[in-house]
Order: sequence, then C-alpha cells, then structure tokens
Amino acid sequence: MANNTWEPMKGDELPSSLFKYQILCTKHLHELQDDFEVLDTAGKISHNTVFRSYVGTNTHELPASFLDAKSIVIIAVFTPLLTANFHYNGESHQILVPHYYEDGITEEHLKNTIKNQIIGHNGYRIENAKTSVLLKRLAVRSGLGRYGRNNLCYVDGFGSFVRLHAFFTDFEFEEDNWIEAKIMDSCEKCKICQNNCPTGSINDENFVIDIEKCIPLYNEIPGEFPWWINPESHNALMGCMKCQLICPANNEVVKLTQTLEDVSEEETKALLEGNPTDDQIASLSKKTKMFIPEHASYYVPVLSRNLRALIGQ
Ligand code: SF4
Ligand code: SF4
Repeated sequence: MANNTWEPMKGDELPSSLFKYQILCTKHLHELQDDFEVLDTAGKISHNTVFRSYVGTNTHELPASFLDAKSIVIIAVFTPLLTANFHYNGESHQILVPHYYEDGITEEHLKNTIKNQIIGHNGYRIENAKTSVLLKRLAVRSGLGRYGRNNLCYVDGFGSFVRLHAFFTDFEFEEDNWIEAKIMDSCEKCKICQNNCPTGSINDENFVIDIEKCIPLYNEIPGEFPWWINPESHNALMGCMKCQLICPANNEVVKLTQTLEDVSEEETKALLEGNPTDDQIASLSKKTKMFIPEHASYYVPVLSRNLRALIGQ
C-alpha cells in the first residue's frame, strides 16, 4: 500500500513505498518522438493551442548541455486525492482537490532518491528531463504504467493517482525497459469511465480521447468556460475526477484520500468574489495547497471561477 503520510524535509529521499520507477536507454528517445509523430500525422492529436502548449514542445532530444546522457529514470510518485471543506452560507461543501496541489516534493528530493536508491553511487550527473519528454508516454513505453481507457497512466499500487517525473543521467544502467504501449487488462470489458464522462470525451471510435471536450483543458487556465459544458459537470477545484473516482483500478487508492484544513466562511466568500486580502491569500494558499501567494494573481481568478461552478452563487 502506498505511504501517503510522508512530510518531505530538505535533503530527504522519497520513502520507497511512495514511488515506483523504470529505466530506459536514451536511444529510445527518437522512438518516442516517432510515436508522437505517427499519432499527429494520423490526426489523433488535437491542435487546440492550450493542449499543444502542453505536448508540442517536447521533442525527445537530449539537451545540448547533456549529450552524453545514457539513461532515463522515469518515476511515478503516489499523489493521493485530497478534499477540502469550504464553508459557505452555513453549509460545508466537500470539494475534491486532485493532483495539482503542491506536494512538497522537490527536484532535490527526486535527485537524492535517484542517486542513493536507484543508481547507488555518487558522482553521476542527474538532470530533469521534463521539458524533453512526454512523461505519460514514456511511463507507458517503459512498462512503469499502462493506459486506461480514459488515456490516463495507471501504475500498479497507485492507480491513476500519480505524478510523473523523468531525469537523464550519465550512469549507464544495464537494464533497458522498452515495450509496446499497453492498455490495462481491466479496461478490456469495462466502459465505466466512458459512461461516466460528462462531456463524451471517451468514445468507441478512437482510443485517443477527444481532448477538446475534456474539462481540465478549460478549468486549469483562466477564461470563461465554453457554453457547451453542462454546469453540473464540474466536480473538482481544478481538473475532473469523474473518470477516475469511479474506476475499479482506483478502488484501493481512493481509500487513501486525505482531508485538508477547513476553509472558513470569510475565506470562501472572498475566494468566490475573487477579492481575498493578503492574509486570506496566505491562508488559502496554506489550506488548499493550490498556489503560492506569489502566484495568487493567476490562481485566484481561476479557483474563484471553478469554485463558483461548484458551489454556485
Ligand atoms: S473505468 Fe474501466 S475502462 Fe475506464 S480506465 Fe478504469 S478500468 Fe479502464
Ligand atoms: S477528465 Fe472528465 S471530461 Fe476528461 S475524460 Fe475524464 S471524465 Fe471526461
């Protein structure tokens, strides 16, 4: 069972129960790029500009500053679902807070973990690869995870409640894991997520979901929601859990959901109205873990709009 109670401290390594990893040789980078281009040429990858900004810049090349990198370490960190009780008009509203929150795990924690628990030797270079690779595809191609019908990456023991990280290193591992992308066996005869998706993003025609209908594409960023999203579809402070909460592959990890500190009437009202004071921003930042105060000017309007959709005005 995943450990979901660890409080990261500076200089720490991740407890082994909190992460899983796989190793690939960097020679597979061009095959990852081929995967992307084959799907793109077939018209399977949306041209939505927001989505392209997430996936279009990772060209699967070694960075010019690290051309002698030999291996890629891909890590899945268990990221439990959180809930927060927002008090408003005398009622308590339990709101889902998915994986977007600040989990306290830094690049230093991850590098220490790779150095001491995965490589086991000092003196090797370890550099973040997140701007070079598509993490979900890398995880599935390495065998670290498998796709669900909802196109999320599922990792044994963690379900889809994971945050993925990848690092290049000049340590040359003997192992090299490279497999065909696979869908979970449990998806073969299951369409629960498809039937529960409020926007019809998951369909029979294409394995690749219709990302332009997928709610997170709109509630992760500022702006008005498209007219065609049914207001009752919204279900989380950011993102969408409709296809994950109900998924049988998440049955066990859903039980590890944690509760954040309650958000008071005054804080909820201020967030709904989009005008929290500096003290309320500091408190909301601490309680929701969704932003640091320095980024409040971006996140307060986004969370305010999302919370209005959940609680209503
Ligand atoms: S709900 Fe069923 S089909 Fe969808 S990802 Fe989970 S197991 Fe697969
Ligand atoms: S995240 Fe929400 S909108 Fe997107 S596929 Fe899952 S249920 Fe559908």
